Amino acid sequence: MDFDSILKVFNERGFKARAFDNIDQVVKVLEKEIGPEQSVGVGGSITVKQSGITDILRARGNIVYFHWEVDKSEIGKTRKLASQADVYLCSSNAVTADGKLVNIDGIGNRVASMFYGPDRVYIICGRNKVVENEEQAVERIKNEACPPNARRLALRTPCSKTGRCHDCDSPDRMCSVKVVMERCPKGKEINLMFVDQDLGY
Ligand code: SF4
Repeated sequence: MDFDSILKVFNERGFKARAFDNIDQVVKVLEKEIGPEQSVGVGGSITVKQSGITDILRARGNIVYFHWEVDKSEIGKTRKLASQADVYLCSSNAVTADGKLVNIDGIGNRVASMFYGPDRVYIICGRNKVVENEEQAVERIKNEACPPNARRLALRTPCSKTGRCHDCDSPDRMCSVKVVMERCPKGKEINLMFVDQDLGY
């Protein structure tokens, strides 16, 4: 995939956008750019989980707060600690060719930490996350990302059964907070790492 134009658009909007051939290259850059003394928060992300970066960072001494990798009783506390870490790692549900990050969360911890909290953020985006515009981004999230995620989490939502969004009122609804980031907020360093592989949902 040719990322040239999307890198240009995001770099003009204050993000630090780079492209990589594969996730292993991203992991190597993260190992280099994250200091051993820095704490690392992680938002719920199949991409980050499958990259293996959290194990690598822990093995060399970083404190890593990832609520998918702790006991159930520690999940809430870990989400909060992640939002106050030095560095935050996550993915984006969708990225538009015209320069927007579009994300939908059930709780909102991940999207909040993307724009507030940790000073430095790394967002890893597989090529499958790239769409043309905001409308397509929401369509992608609701009908491509949410259904398999709902199944993975055994949520009793209509999308987990039909594979399509029904704009439900389910108690298990995973779509509560929608955030569209159009510019990198002042004082924040947001690294967008595009990868020429399909990663995550
Ligand atoms: S609104 Fe409900 S049905 Fe639609 S994607 Fe979200 S959880 Fe699934």
